[in-house]
Amino acid sequence: MIPTAFDYQAPTTVEEALEALASGGDDVKVLGGGQSLLPILRMRLNAPDLLVDLSRIDALRGIRDDGDAIVIGAMTPYSDIVASDLVREHASLLAKAVAEVADPQIRHRGTVGGALVHADPAGDVGAPVLALDAELVIAGPGGTRTVPASEFFHDLFETSVGEGELLTQVRIPKHTGWGSHYEKFVRVSHQWSIIGVAVTLRAEGGTIREARIGLTNMGSTPLRAHAVEEALVGRTAADLGDACSRAADGTNPPSDLNGDSDYRRHLARVLTARAVSTALGG
Ligand SMILES: Cc1cc2nc3c(=O)[nH]c(=O)nc-3n(C[C@H](O)[C@H](O)[C@H](O)COP(=O)(O)OP(=O)(O)OC[C@H]3O[C@@H](n4cnc5c(N)ncnc54)[C@H](O)[C@@H]3O)c2cc1C
Repeated sequence: MIPTAFDYQAPTTVEEALEALASGGDDVKVLGGGQSLLPILRMRLNAPDLLVDLSRIDALRGIRDDGDAIVIGAMTPYSDIVASDLVREHASLLAKAVAEVADPQIRHRGTVGGALVHADPAGDVGAPVLALDAELVIAGPGGTRTVPASEFFHDLFETSVGEGELLTQVRIPKHTGWGSHYEKFVRVSHQWSIIGVAVTLRAEGGTIREARIGLTNMGSTPLRAHAVEEALVGRTAADLGDACSRAADGTNPPSDLNGDSDYRRHLARVLTARAVSTALGG
């Protein structure tokens, strides 16, 4: 189907984009890479009066070293993240998770910011961003604010980014030397996650000292498996014991044609153990 008619603006600065959002009336939409929004417009599930395209704002694109963090512009496409030496060295979990998103064409167009604001619970970017304790920088008419990933995801398709605001940056504290793995469970290749487990951990001599775990599609938002993170401290690959048995604690996974809630809870326990073992180099 062809989308309904809309006006189009392509500003070159964040300030111009914010002005366009403010002047656009009630029904203005931000266009990132378009990989979620364009199908929605074509199905006429949304019919904005104005599209504000961020693709000409150079300041929103790129990955840079910022001391104890790396900073990723919201309009940075997945393919740049996968190819980035900085991300691979300091936030390897994100590179591994993003490499599992869809197919090369979508990874070339889709952006990290679009994925986070879209906040599909089956999306593969939220759980690693949560596990890496990232911060999200949001610009709006009143200035800029920084929101921890733990507070960013409110509900299904709802985040801290409000009307008239833009997500501009993702700041990730460096996890240099940490092991990591993203375990994505699908029935066919290029499918959305039935569930996903994002693990990053710091080990000394094979013993886990710190662990961070994010879960994909185990509720209406990405979730942290805090009970497992605590149970893993002091464990080794040969002695994980039942540390991963609490991976589904506090989750509320959906039931759909890919599997019911109980099946997803079972998968969370099994795949968390697998992901931890792989992150440890096992
Ligand atoms: C066939 C197919 C398969 C897919 N499979 C997967 C998969 O396996 N795993 C996965 O994780 N994802 C998958 N996706 C989704 C893909 O990752 C999208 O790229 C992503 O969800 C949205 O990113 P985008 O840059 O394209 O955003 P857009 O589609 O442009 O925008 C998405 C939403 O975010 C808003 N937005 C975008 N950027 C900003 C910003 N900077 N500030 C404020 N609001 C903004 C838009 O207004 C819109 O509401 C798939 C998509 C398709 C079409």
